[in-house]
Amino acid sequence: MDFELNETQLAVVDGINKICADFPDSYWLEKDNKHEFPHDFAQAVCDGGYFGIMMPEEYGGAGLGYTEAALMMQAIAESGACMAGCTSIHVNIFMPGAIRKHASPEQKERWISRLMTLQDRAAFCVTEPGAGIDTTHITTRAEWNAERQRYLISGQKVWISVAQQANKIMVLARTTPLEKTSRPADGLSLFYTDLDRDYVDVQLIDKMGRHAVDSNAVFFDGLPVRKEDLIGEEGRGLEYLFSSLNAERILAAAECVGMGRAALRRASDYARERVVFDRPIGKNQAIQHPLAANWCQLEAANLMMLKAAWLYDNGKSCGVEANAAKWLAAEAGFDACQQAIMTHGGMGYAKEYHVERYLRELQILRIGPIPPPLMLSFIAERQLGMPKSY
Ligand SMILES: Cc1cc2nc3c(=O)[nH]c(=O)nc-3n(C[C@H](O)[C@H](O)[C@H](O)COP(=O)(O)OP(=O)(O)OC[C@H]3O[C@@H](n4cnc5c(N)ncnc54)[C@H](O)[C@@H]3O)c2cc1C
Repeated sequence: MDFELNETQLAVVDGINKICADFPDSYWLEKDNKHEFPHDFAQAVCDGGYFGIMMPEEYGGAGLGYTEAALMMQAIAESGACMAGCTSIHVNIFMPGAIRKHASPEQKERWISRLMTLQDRAAFCVTEPGAGIDTTHITTRAEWNAERQRYLISGQKVWISVAQQANKIMVLARTTPLEKTSRPADGLSLFYTDLDRDYVDVQLIDKMGRHAVDSNAVFFDGLPVRKEDLIGEEGRGLEYLFSSLNAERILAAAECVGMGRAALRRASDYARERVVFDRPIGKNQAIQHPLAANWCQLEAANLMMLKAAWLYDNGKSCGVEANAAKWLAAEAGFDACQQAIMTHGGMGYAKEYHVERYLRELQILRIGPIPPPLMLSFIAERQLGMPKSY
């Protein structure tokens, strides 16, 4: 068993760390305060060639695996960029997973290099207010209009990241009504198309954190979509999405560990420097022990994340491990951020010490892309043999 990162993996982390060094905590605090999208950061990562980390070499990508991609996102989160940094580039890098696996060669030719070079910026539109995590019950529909030779998409999505910036969307919509399918998961189709604001209204959601990257309610009113923009076969969209869910959980786990480590680094620095009762607060075991426990939890979660990534990259089943990694990492990261605030005392509540921002951003990955009860239900069912509970 080899726990060392290989040369390529070390080079990815090193290269990303060098880029992130130009975007310190003060940059992210300012972006958060001003609600400004971090365009220069996204451009720097793109210019470094990292948008193609997992794209096939024939399309100009590096052809690496999810292990390398997860290490890259972890390094970004760990730099203090947190979810603002990660989600400013997420969709362009990872959404093509569905494109890479299920799009036609003509579509790949049309789409991949524009995403990798940031000529296109994409938003990922799945969640709906009426369906929640039960994606089979989405009601956004795409109806084929024979006269116009277009699908017309109508409906509503919610919580869609970067839709203020995007000119492209990947959208899941019903092409066959639920009552006419033999299984609820059938009859949903996946499209990658232009975000034409004549037919799509994007409304900003005021939220708790990650103010640098917008979240939106998105309303579709007959968006016309060419057949050429349907990914794979009509009716199999959910199957295509589900095929990348484990990868999404692995990335989320890596990012949670990164944010937790950033919080722990700040907490340990503060504990060494802050003197109260004539001694550094870090000399007290009541300060040391919770932080040491945070470290243990984060590193254990990281090992599970790396195991899940290794299984995924080697074509092995990894559903249980990917869910376990995401659950462990989100809880460990949250605990570390919370403990970092407590270690700072009153200063933990001040924005200039950054740990409150880390906590606000980590909370996103406790909620999504899948919340804790559903991951635990999955593990109970698949690993422990209990009946399906949802
Ligand atoms: C900042 C942010 C960015 C996001 N970006 C995107 C994006 O770009 N694109 C996109 O499509 N979505 C996005 N999302 C949506 C996110 O993926 C969802 O919020 C998440 O999947 C949870 O769905 P929901 O909010 O509808 O919760 P609901 O489904 O309404 O669930 C509410 C609560 O009930 C619990 N629950 C539900 N069913 C059960 C059950 N059977 N047993 C126990 N508990 C249950 C859930 O765990 C949850 O805690 C984003 C969300 C946030 C907050």
